[in-house]
Amino acid sequence: MAPIAIEQPQLDNIIPKDIKGDNRYGIFDKKGSDLKSMAVGATKDGRTLVPVLPEFKTKEEQQLYAKQHLVAAFRVSRIMVMMRALQDICPFATLFAAIISGSILKTTNSYAMHFADICVSDLVLVNENAEIVEGEHAVNAAGFAIHSEIHKAHPWINAVCHAHTVAGKAYSTFGKPLPPIMQDSLRFYDSHVVNTEYAGVVLSSDEGKTIAKLLRRQDKVAILQNHGLLLVGETIDEAAYWFVCFDKCCKAQLMIDAASAGTGYQPKLVDHETATFTAKNSGARYRGWLNFQPYYTNMVKKTKGEFLK
Ligand SMILES: [Zn+2]
Repeated sequence: MAPIAIEQPQLDNIIPKDIKGDNRYGIFDKKGSDLKSMAVGATKDGRTLVPVLPEFKTKEEQQLYAKQHLVAAFRVSRIMVMMRALQDICPFATLFAAIISGSILKTTNSYAMHFADICVSDLVLVNENAEIVEGEHAVNAAGFAIHSEIHKAHPWINAVCHAHTVAGKAYSTFGKPLPPIMQDSLRFYDSHVVNTEYAGVVLSSDEGKTIAKLLRRQDKVAILQNHGLLLVGETIDEAAYWFVCFDKCCKAQLMIDAASAGTGYQPKLVDHETATFTAKNSGARYRGWLNFQPYYTNMVKKTKGEFLK
């Protein structure tokens, strides 16, 4: 099975009816344009080559694909990831990479594992009672407590990513959403929430329940004040890309805030209509999936595919 299909059938002037005549989409009124992937360019024989979600012949194929992309997300993003398993394997079960210690660089616990060392064979399947269904490693208790509550509350969320990145945890301390001042931040316009109820290191499922209540169907991110970032997606690829992107936005925002405080300059806010337009296109869930594909293929190339087993 190829990791991704890269060929779309001919896309012949596919600009949707509801935006026909809207000159903001003018470039897509061309043969071979693909608004979904925001690509233009037809080949001489009329094809448009863009990555598309693969179709699976069997559940086993789909399962392997999900596991391989889950591990790539660990390696690319160095993030804690938990993913809902396919329903026919174990209801409510999730795939969870081996174990995460307090530090991603220093693994002192006997059950800890560096994200960059994780392979598909290191994944474990854990049920809602924290019992290992497949695999042999234990799992991180706090991660399980948060992620499992979110998976239980939101069937559409198939992947949850969480980590304490430097920029993410620094920005989280303010307990405020990202302002609409950069194009990349607009991917998350009206699709992220802030949990201001930090109650110490997670030893129960309470924080997971609180975050689950905050998350709406359009959300991609929960900023956990005094803690870090948590990203969700319909696919692991989507959630992982949002994580990479949102973390960089936090870093840029901190730089902007520092520069603004030092100079007195004020960044210009993007108006609601423009922000909504950009979020609808650049922030579409397929775009999150699509943007992770280069990371995935690069990781396969860099590691010669060692993590796939
Ligand atoms: Zn955490």
